[in-house]
Amino acid sequence: MIAAGPAHGSGNRAGAGSPSGEAVSAALLGWYDRHARVLPWRVGPADRAADIRPDPYRVWLSEIMLQQTTVAAAIPYFLRFTARWPDIAALAAAADAEVMAEWAGLGYYARARNMLACARILAASGGFPDREEALRALPGIGPYTAAAIAAIAFDRPAVVVDGNVERVVARLFALTDPLPGAKAGLRARAAALTPRARPGDHAQAMMDLGATICTPRRPACGACPVAGLCAARAQGIAETLPARAPRARRPERRGIAYVARRGDGAVLFERRPARGLLGGMLGLPGTDWTEAPPRPAPPLAADWRPAGSVRHVFTHFALTLSVEVAAVTDGPGLFLRPDPAALPSVMRKALRLGLAALTG
Ligand code: SF4
Repeated sequence: MIAAGPAHGSGNRAGAGSPSGEAVSAALLGWYDRHARVLPWRVGPADRAADIRPDPYRVWLSEIMLQQTTVAAAIPYFLRFTARWPDIAALAAAADAEVMAEWAGLGYYARARNMLACARILAASGGFPDREEALRALPGIGPYTAAAIAAIAFDRPAVVVDGNVERVVARLFALTDPLPGAKAGLRARAAALTPRARPGDHAQAMMDLGATICTPRRPACGACPVAGLCAARAQGIAETLPARAPRARRPERRGIAYVARRGDGAVLFERRPARGLLGGMLGLPGTDWTEAPPRPAPPLAADWRPAGSVRHVFTHFALTLSVEVAAVTDGPGLFLRPDPAALPSVMRKALRLGLAALTG
């Protein structure tokens, strides 16, 4: 039996009322059996009970896509990727540029580069390892993703902790210490909740609970399968948890993007360097993105004029990108028919603004 036991520490207000891991897990799995979300990469509880096993490739691909991306945004990408590259060997054999173009718009492009590197290692080595430590040694697979794959694809009792799980655990135990300092304590409580039987379904049940019931704002405690075990609910503090230390302000950066369009409609692009932000993606030529005002660096001599600016918020900084446009006859470089779908979001915004200015 796995029991959470009484919790200690100044930030825990649940005291002797901490729920037992076994009770929480049993209630959660019962709820999951009836209400599991239907997701294209998931083998639902009925099929799982019939011993249908998840395809590690699909679990891995979904978990890579879900890093920093919502389920709703990831689903169409997942469906396109699996239709085009149905297994690890097919993805490993794909051309980099085609995979990057298919990934365009999903953001965090290092994920796509690592995903391809990982696919090639796995295809060459004969498939997925089934243990967390070996999964963690692969490109693009951090502690969370390794635990999720080990639990979901291989039913290992790995402790799967993301933001959703942290929120559910903080509330179940009424842990009031702020994040990020509280992470280790939350992880220990999540470990205490993880059962030996059906750990993959337990992990997915926790994810579903956090996504659909125990939401950041206005949790639907009345519909929650563990409401009777929840310390935060009993104390009326659910919506205040998890507590967070105040965040430092995101730095502001500026840059210039250039939209040079020929008479036949082709636009000047460049392939960004393989390493760094948006690495390997197609983009508009432009300056570096810096906190100091950018120095103009037009890619060719032309009658440049300003078209306005676009804004994009990355994880570590916010960018204001001024857009300069010019109609050109020709010039050196990569002139292509613009395909916004093949561009990262920030470039898509800049291209849209530039083309509107050129045609307006
Ligand atoms: Fe979250 Fe409310 Fe359920 Fe507690 S009772 S786990 S706060 S939804």
